[in-house]
Amino acid sequence: MKKDKVSSLIKKEEKRQKKVINLIPSENYVSPAVLKALGSVFTNKYSEGYPGSRYYSGQGNMDDAENLTISLACKIFKCKYANVQPLSGAMANWAVYFGLLKPGDKILAMDLSHGGHLTHGHSATHISKIFKFIFYITDEKTGKIDFKKLEKTALKEKPKMILAGFSSYTRSLDWKKFAGLAREAGAISVADISHIAGLVAGGVLENPFNAGFDVITTTTHKTLRGPRGGMILIRDNKLLAEKINKSVFPGLQGGPHMNNILAKAVCFEEVLSPSFKKYARQILKNTKAMEKVFRQNNVEMVFGGTDNHMILIDTTKNFGISGEEAQGILEKSGINVNKNVIPNDTRKPADPSGIRIGTPAVTTRGFKEKDCERTARKIITLLVSRREANKSTKIEL
Ligand SMILES: *Cc1c(COP(=O)(O)O)cnc(C)c1O
Repeated sequence: MKKDKVSSLIKKEEKRQKKVINLIPSENYVSPAVLKALGSVFTNKYSEGYPGSRYYSGQGNMDDAENLTISLACKIFKCKYANVQPLSGAMANWAVYFGLLKPGDKILAMDLSHGGHLTHGHSATHISKIFKFIFYITDEKTGKIDFKKLEKTALKEKPKMILAGFSSYTRSLDWKKFAGLAREAGAISVADISHIAGLVAGGVLENPFNAGFDVITTTTHKTLRGPRGGMILIRDNKLLAEKINKSVFPGLQGGPHMNNILAKAVCFEEVLSPSFKKYARQILKNTKAMEKVFRQNNVEMVFGGTDNHMILIDTTKNFGISGEEAQGILEKSGINVNKNVIPNDTRKPADPSGIRIGTPAVTTRGFKEKDCERTARKIITLLVSRREANKSTKIEL
């Protein structure tokens, strides 16, 4: 592709990102400083290994950068060890499974349609063929995790790992219960906080380490607002940390992306500033503002509402249209959301029953409660008018 074509694409994307109201809960806008680190000469360097023990020469600056990123990560999440090399959230999870378990071992995780993530053992993934995943679900009436059932499964099946974490669950998890149950069942406890890392770092959601979790995995590009990538944190167990380091490299990955690790350090410095705490608080206030509007307008929310940065809505039930259709209608009006499965969805993942709405990106853009209320009202108006139009032309879903 010619260079002018590339710069024109970048300009167009910049413009698109500025123009839309981005309510995709897993996306955000990084700072110019993060972009600068990502685009720096750190991308030129091969640094297989870890600080102090690399394979190639010329690593002084790389070691300083990785050590800085590690120490900032430990400071933010109050733990002893961190591996900042995972190239993505998926790789962070895979490295934990392979590092701490043997093929065939059982992992108890959250079912995808109830909020869990693909990388938690969904049958479409390679990883589901290597480890034996069993699943827990939410209770239809309360929207909370059915902990009685989860406990029974854990004590009967004796999984080697209990995984707590989600990508479309909107309530808070009782970390203490999870960690306690894992101890009782003799399992390693892992919290995947990919979606909520920024809320934990900002002090508005509880840190799973405070509740006794052994390991945390996370992405760095969602609410944490850093470069695209992953990270593994270990509370205090040196043996676990060593196993995980070996698992990331050489077990799973080759050379780490040092520009990305540098950009993680920039992000973590930002996270440690007082303004980030304010940002995290505003995210919650903004989701609550949207929740209020949906409630006032009798739009039923999956799991009964929200305790975090996102809201899940069954569009078939509330508006008589599929998630795919709702996503399309909103996109035409400059609002980006994503279609999403709902618990026990009867429709296909490519055209599921719901949409997922989140506030991290618009909060970065400066949205306050009033802006979010207005946006929620607009969403309702757009979706209701389609329902009415469908009614008058008698289109059946
Ligand atoms: C986003 C996410 C991941 C995967 O992250 P990628 O960087 O896309 O691989 C893993 N787990 C959870 C809970 C997530 O939300």
